[in-house]
Amino acid sequence: MTDRLLSGDRNQCAGCGEMFNSSAAFDKHRTGAFGVDRRCRTPDEMRKVGMSNDGGWWITEKNQRFAPDMDGLTGTTIASWAAR
Ligand SMILES: [Zn+2]
Repeated sequence: MTDRLLSGDRNQCAGCGEMFNSSAAFDKHRTGAFGVDRRCRTPDEMRKVGMSNDGGWWITEKNQRFAPDMDGLTGTTIASWAAR
């Protein structure tokens, strides 16, 4: 996994075209056995395994750090998280 064409650890799947916020999220959207039935999960399947789409970027799961509503509601939340 050395494909870093997009910023940071973000990447786009060449198979389904979905965008991922991390290589971990990318890995999680792939399912099946290598060389057998390896394929991309559909968006519905991704949600079923706990992934969510944050502003166009799929993330492995919702967590406090990446919750998009946090910095919208309280401008200091992100900064206080980063200070920990
Ligand atoms: Zn894909």
